[in-house]
Amino acid sequence: MPTDTDSNPSQKTRISRSDTIQFLGALEQLQKLQDVQPPRILIVDDDKPHRESLITLLGLVGYECLSAGSGSEALAVLKRHHVDLLLLDLLMPGMDGHQLMELVRARNQDAAIIVISGDATWAAATKAMRRGADNFIRKPYAPDEVFVAIKRSLAQREQRKLLERKMVRQRVSEQLHRFIVDKSPDFIYILDASGCFRFVNERISDLLGYTREELLGCHFNSLLVDATVTEKVIFNTPRDVEKTVTLEVQFNKKPGMKSGNSDPVTVELTVQSAYYRDFTNGRRVFLGSYGVARDISMRKQVESQICYQAHHDHLTGLPNRSLFNDRLALAIKQARRNKGKIAVFFIDLDHFKTINDTLGHALGDRALEAIASRIENCIRRGDTLSRIGGDEFVLLMPQLKMEEDADNLARNIVEILQAPLCLGHHEVIITASIGIAVYPDHGRDANTLINHADLAMYEIKSRGKNNVGFYSPKLDKVHLSNLSFEVEMRNALERNEFIIEYQPQVRLGDGSIRGLEALVRWQHPTRGRLAPCDFIGKAEENQTILPLGNWVIEQVLHDVRNWRKQGIDPPVVAINVSALQLRQSNFTTVLVELLQRYDIPGHCIELELTENVIMQDVNDKMRCLKKVTDAGIRIAIDDFGTGYSSLSNLQRLPVDTLKMDQSFVDGINPATGENSMVSIIIAMARGLGLGLIAEGVEKPHQAQYLEQAGCRQGQGFLFSTPLNFSSTVRYLEQAPCGPVQ
Ligand code: C2E
Ligand code: MG
Ligand code: MG
Repeated sequence: MPTDTDSNPSQKTRISRSDTIQFLGALEQLQKLQDVQPPRILIVDDDKPHRESLITLLGLVGYECLSAGSGSEALAVLKRHHVDLLLLDLLMPGMDGHQLMELVRARNQDAAIIVISGDATWAAATKAMRRGADNFIRKPYAPDEVFVAIKRSLAQREQRKLLERKMVRQRVSEQLHRFIVDKSPDFIYILDASGCFRFVNERISDLLGYTREELLGCHFNSLLVDATVTEKVIFNTPRDVEKTVTLEVQFNKKPGMKSGNSDPVTVELTVQSAYYRDFTNGRRVFLGSYGVARDISMRKQVESQICYQAHHDHLTGLPNRSLFNDRLALAIKQARRNKGKIAVFFIDLDHFKTINDTLGHALGDRALEAIASRIENCIRRGDTLSRIGGDEFVLLMPQLKMEEDADNLARNIVEILQAPLCLGHHEVIITASIGIAVYPDHGRDANTLINHADLAMYEIKSRGKNNVGFYSPKLDKVHLSNLSFEVEMRNALERNEFIIEYQPQVRLGDGSIRGLEALVRWQHPTRGRLAPCDFIGKAEENQTILPLGNWVIEQVLHDVRNWRKQGIDPPVVAINVSALQLRQSNFTTVLVELLQRYDIPGHCIELELTENVIMQDVNDKMRCLKKVTDAGIRIAIDDFGTGYSSLSNLQRLPVDTLKMDQSFVDGINPATGENSMVSIIIAMARGLGLGLIAEGVEKPHQAQYLEQAGCRQGQGFLFSTPLNFSSTVRYLEQAPCGPVQ
């Protein structure tokens, strides 16, 4: 079915205004030829009674008559009216009949002329006939004589007209046909028996760049991109079977065609062969063929675009899930046949939601594009990388020689992704967790392989992310237990399986206590003691962090009240708070109520929020944190330096303390004792007038460097590991308390 896309813009503008006018003119001519009116007679005679008697006479037999008393009057009538026949007197004063006839004929008026004259000489008659008269009647005449002459002259005139009409009709219709063929949006041609062009329409010039003359006489094959198939279809098959052949072919454009590109044009070609029967021997003789070629390049382009979109991810241009599944199914078939191996990777970006939440979706999209191209740069041509979800990619490695190759590639990807990525004015680090499943060891069908790679990835996530791992059957059990995790966690709260440990924060100068950080642990009945990294992430996913977070706050307040009662008051206790908790509309109200209930002043409590949590929806956060700080509660930014804080936002938010992430402390060079990032963070905290705590201080040289560089507070195993309630009491009793900064 023809569509809009079958005609390109150049085809649409092919019929110009003058073409249209010419076309309409031809149609009008045809119309005129059809208009047949009753004959009208003009009687020209200076003898009025004679004129009138003729009018009466002719009126009796139904002719429509006009009259004129002189030659000039007759010319005036002819100017205004169409006249079929003139009854003309020769002898008139002024312009005589001969002169009038001459003028009538000179003006191409085609009326029949019958001369009625009193001059009955042979000379007068021949002179009249030479000047264009059709008949000659001598006065006086019998009425019958006039009728017969009129009839005959009109009949002759009608004959003439008919012939003329026929010729005009033929000419006009030929013009119309030529117009229609030439202005057709399709390329129309006729080939002779040897396959050479005998006719081509005008369309050829803007379709392929040839003039008609250039192509006439050339062989049809000279246009074809692939002459082999079409040669057979177009020239052989129709010779045997009388039918129309429709096929898709590509035409080459004229080399060096001036306008447009030089790509071949795809056309839908309809070809019909022509034969005649040789009656001498009864055989059919092939005359040639004629065809119509419709440019379907645009349609093809749209079709291939639709096909591409149906199989590719719009953002990264990578194959989508459906194309990936096809390729995976094919790879499995081949591997089965060749007894080979294939690997399927499930790649999930770590904390990608934070990028979207903090930098916005536009930069998030740019990050995805950049990550896709980084991974693509690591893989071989035969591998298929596909984006199957927001930040989820799958990779197919067909023809795997050994598992080690998959492991190497995955580690390579993890490493390459770790390099900082520039997004607008931000520099971010995006890591990925990769799970791998291998055919046939870990699954024999596409679904199982993808699910098992996913499971392996999930395991990597739960073990700290940014790593690579293979599927193993024991993960199925872990997976099953993940499903029941939510139920287990809710039970754990009821069964009091969570405990809190406190890690001291000290002043680096004298080791006095700055405060404590509350850290939750899960004393799991079967799995043993679980660290926060084993359950906080999952609790955030399924929202059990809300009851757990509330429990932590209440437990800390409970402990602080007990210490205060014993007279061992820690200067400040820090509580980690996750984004979901802070998003609760009544978070601050409930917290303030609890402080009142436990009779604890706000300044004894510090809330630790990670950079990314605090920088999300800064305006909302401002309102919420303002209420918190109004109650005297302190705010610390945890793991500072790993997220995306903007300096201006830091200044606007009511923050008291920055907690320098332990990766910076780790990076302090043991030999030189330096780390430029540490110096920058120290300078930043000082510049903003904020307190600073270095996290994860494990070695004396770290503490030394930090103190020298201007960081006065630290937390880490060097001073103390996190302690249970009674050990904390002992620690507090021994160490002196210092000021909180
Ligand atoms: P964080 O808030 O940055 O806590 C510091 C983490 O560093 C703790 O890990 C602590 O045990 C560990 N750490 C302290 N000193 C050192 C050191 O010298 N070297 C090393 N390598 N590590 C040290 P932990 O207890 O496993 O907690 C991990 C994270 O879990 C915490 O990081 C915090 O983000 C989160 N978390 C802990 N408790 C809670 C909680 O009650 N609620 C929420 N929402 N998150 C919590
Ligand atoms: Mg913390
Ligand atoms: Mg921290």
